[in-house]
Amino acid sequence: TALILLVLATVAKTYGQAISRDESEQRAQALLKQMNLDEKVGQLNQSAGIQMPMLGSEKPDTLIEQGRVGSILWLTNVKEINRLQHIAVEKSRLHIPILFAFDVIHGYRTVFPVPLAMASSWDPGVEEQAQHFAAQDARAAGIEWTFTPMVDIARDARWGRIVEGAGEDPYLGKAMAAAQVRGFQGDQLGPDSVLVCVKHFAGYGAADGGRDYDSSYIPEELFRNVYLAPFYAAAKAGAGSFMSAYMDLNDVPASGNKWLLTDILRNEWGFKGFLVSDAFAVGSLQVHGYAKDPSDAAYKAITAGLNMDMASQTYTKNLAQLVKDGKVTEAQIDAMVLPILAAKYQLGLFDHPYADESKVEATLNRPEGLTLERKLAARSMVLLKNDKQTLPLKTSIKKIALIGPLGDSTHDIEGGWTVEGLFGNGSKSHPVTLLAGLKNKLPNAQISTVSGPELSRVFPGLLDQLAGKKVLPPPTPQETADWIAKVKAAASDADLVVAAMGEIASMSSEASSRATLDLPGIQQQMLEAAVATGKPVVLVLLAGRPLDIRWPAEHVPAILEAWYPGTEGGNAIADVLFGDVNPGGKLPVSWPRVAGAEPLYYNHNLTHEPEDRPQFTSRYWDIQSKPLYPFGYGLSYTTFKFANLKLSQASIGTDGSTQVSVEVTNTGSVAGDAVGQVYIHQRWGSASRPVRQLKGFQRVALQPGETKTLTFPLGKDELEFWSPQTKNWVVEPSTFDVWAGEDSTAPLHAELTVTQ
Ligand code: BGC
Repeated sequence: TALILLVLATVAKTYGQAISRDESEQRAQALLKQMNLDEKVGQLNQSAGIQMPMLGSEKPDTLIEQGRVGSILWLTNVKEINRLQHIAVEKSRLHIPILFAFDVIHGYRTVFPVPLAMASSWDPGVEEQAQHFAAQDARAAGIEWTFTPMVDIARDARWGRIVEGAGEDPYLGKAMAAAQVRGFQGDQLGPDSVLVCVKHFAGYGAADGGRDYDSSYIPEELFRNVYLAPFYAAAKAGAGSFMSAYMDLNDVPASGNKWLLTDILRNEWGFKGFLVSDAFAVGSLQVHGYAKDPSDAAYKAITAGLNMDMASQTYTKNLAQLVKDGKVTEAQIDAMVLPILAAKYQLGLFDHPYADESKVEATLNRPEGLTLERKLAARSMVLLKNDKQTLPLKTSIKKIALIGPLGDSTHDIEGGWTVEGLFGNGSKSHPVTLLAGLKNKLPNAQISTVSGPELSRVFPGLLDQLAGKKVLPPPTPQETADWIAKVKAAASDADLVVAAMGEIASMSSEASSRATLDLPGIQQQMLEAAVATGKPVVLVLLAGRPLDIRWPAEHVPAILEAWYPGTEGGNAIADVLFGDVNPGGKLPVSWPRVAGAEPLYYNHNLTHEPEDRPQFTSRYWDIQSKPLYPFGYGLSYTTFKFANLKLSQASIGTDGSTQVSVEVTNTGSVAGDAVGQVYIHQRWGSASRPVRQLKGFQRVALQPGETKTLTFPLGKDELEFWSPQTKNWVVEPSTFDVWAGEDSTAPLHAELTVTQ
């Protein structure tokens, strides 16, 4: 019996059983004792898969055999992954497996909506489901570590990477961050999970002028109350790794910032995982004018607490010498290596280092992925405008003119950071464009298309360069006139115009900041021509950021923000346009009227026009300074009424809590989802507090006439803030305004007194 039990225990351990963090650390400790300095430094080195030749004359095979590669990024060919893993496991002295990493941002083969869209669902459960599915795909394909989630707060749509995060709000950001950690890692990191990497630590989203990679200047109170909040939530949810950001944070580069990487993350928050730099960021410490030379860069990064050097080779080339020179102790190196080895143990890599090549395609093509994708994509869309019930459309429509460059673009419907798209092979996921989605919905309708000129950046982007894509000149006046004539003809001949407009995928994401937010190219002219025909027009926006849509917002009767909805995007848009799905998404950002209004966010401190001194106003004199659409906003095909806002206790002590309850009724004639939102404001205290802050939300489905009571806790977690005067987290005696309703302008109000 003992033998059987032993065999069973071993089998359980080998197949799919997670080991505890403590056990993984013990094993890592034991392994560390056998490692020489070069092998230890090897574990701190992440090599770039597609750039292997950049490692110099030595072939990766040799480096791996010597134990000098701890991790590899940007390699997705599963055969090559397994080949290199065999070298590590069979030929290196200590048989330590390599950790393969990739940016699995919103799906692997099945591409889910971009993260900003996911946040628009206001449904963390949906985000968790999507990332869990992506994790299963990735792990089957040999990827054990993903550079997800990006939890950078973004309050400026000029910043291209706003598409990769959850928007402007720390509370929503926290919920989405934690959901993604759970989705990829599960309750505990184990042989079925994918290790997350929470990025970009920290403050990257506050880049000056929205210019990617530019410096961030963030006072400590703003940093802690806003920018760090989702990182903290991710750490608490068990995130196994973090990525340090590229930029200077208050003049100290994040990747060499001890206060950030050690004092806050490890000492204050108790983080036990490991940190990797952003790509080449350790080497860049010299470029930033922070390190004297590469050796100093390695010194500053390692002593700041950065475990792993992504791609720059600065650790590989300098750390051993720093130890020999006595500038860094071997104990310091050990402390950096330990959590990396522990993660490899937790992920089960020592027992199961290889991907099962025979199962990859079946896993990646699981049909349930497409069903899930379509559902989630529709859940993420935000109905911005719907005059005279233009939507939902009737299936009796016979002729549709589909205009705009995004109506039938297979690449753009999925957005950026698609795993297979990144390598220029073209995505193998067969995405459904809007044209295909409309055809699926109305097989007998006649659909004419006018794409307009191909969109192009003025300056090429990272991925354009990788894909060898050239920038295109703007259309000539004659070409423009020809396209406009085509739009007029198609629109005049149709019962309905659907305009699929916005930005192509390469206009969003990394190195994709812009100074204006208008519809690129001649899209607005095309839209104006369509509207001028008098035919009903529906604008479907496909983009990774809010755009300047002042003209459409005034002249186009219906506008649906579809973001980049993913593989089933076209079907999901059609589901929403024809009312098979009632849209319930809400904006995770305040929608600016114009780029010049950025940064724009609802949770700012007092900027209002004082009623007694109206001339002293913070308004712009040329445009309204309020957003075009507020944070939390989104329409539905039904209407909701919020009523009976109550607090279980109207007065509590600083350590007490109360419960907010509010009733929501579907007052329309179709079923739909409402998102109840709770906001607070602290009227006085040791610091000025934002005029409103989201502190609770819940998405609920309601039948026509149905009422539900939503409840939200309001206690220490919601009321506390980091005070610049006391320099700690405090709940202060004060009066708090509490609002509940369907967006950040909700009028329903109650008062909470907090006493000492
Ligand atoms: C990006 C990261 C990404 C890394 C690896 C960097 O350029 O800033 O977000 O994870 O590349 O692909």
